[in-house]
Amino acid sequence: MVDGVFELSLGFVNMHLVVTDDGVVLVDTGLPRNAKRIDRALRDLGKQIGDVTAVLLTHNHFDHIGNVADVRRRSGARVFAHAADAMGITGVNEPVEPKGLAKFAVRLIGRPEPTKLDKVITGAESTPLPGFTAVHTPGHTRGHVSFLLDRDGGVLFAGDTASSTRDGKVTSGPTQASVDPAEQSRSLAKLAGYEFEHAVFGHGRAVSGRAVESFRAYARSLPGAGAGESGPDAGSGPSAESGPDTSTGGDQAGR
Ligand SMILES: [Zn+2]
Ligand SMILES: [Zn+2]
Repeated sequence: MVDGVFELSLGFVNMHLVVTDDGVVLVDTGLPRNAKRIDRALRDLGKQIGDVTAVLLTHNHFDHIGNVADVRRRSGARVFAHAADAMGITGVNEPVEPKGLAKFAVRLIGRPEPTKLDKVITGAESTPLPGFTAVHTPGHTRGHVSFLLDRDGGVLFAGDTASSTRDGKVTSGPTQASVDPAEQSRSLAKLAGYEFEHAVFGHGRAVSGRAVESFRAYARSLPGAGAGESGPDAGSGPSAESGPDTSTGGDQAGR
């Protein structure tokens, strides 16, 4: 898709490897116990674990931070995540109690090993690494961040804020484990204000070629969107997805 950007699918979740002048950057680390798959993906690129210099975490869900402790230990890579999601990664304070399907998956697969963070991301927008912009996109989790790579017209690593449909349209990311689905939608709309050609997701296939237009189309379809601007396709977007999963009661009922 884009030179030096690679997607690794681990079951139902994607992680990404980005080859830069300063080593390999991982965006998320997949499900727990997949370190060997990451090593193999690196080998396929003619790299090895020691070439990984940084790990950018979109958020603290177990399917995104599964191998971060192992990667950090073996590579010495610096690990970045937003301050608001730190506690679910470092194991300090309460671990985030998984919800919905994730609860069962955690039972099957196991919890991720906690790790230290080397750099905490704060603010609405920042530059954790040269070429990468971190955009705070809360809603899925409080500290969710999406990353924009300045390459080939822009590559968005949307994490779980957005996803794509089978026919390559942008849609909401998974919401059954979201802390605030409405805020997640607003964050998706915020991403539509940037410029990028390509978008990759934690779940769903990459979208390439004016990917941002698909974000804009989805943002226009959201309730309360489009004040002022009514495009020709005002009523044609994917129906606002409030979904069957807005009523996951008993959220934090810990186990
Ligand atoms: Zn998630
Ligand atoms: Zn996820």
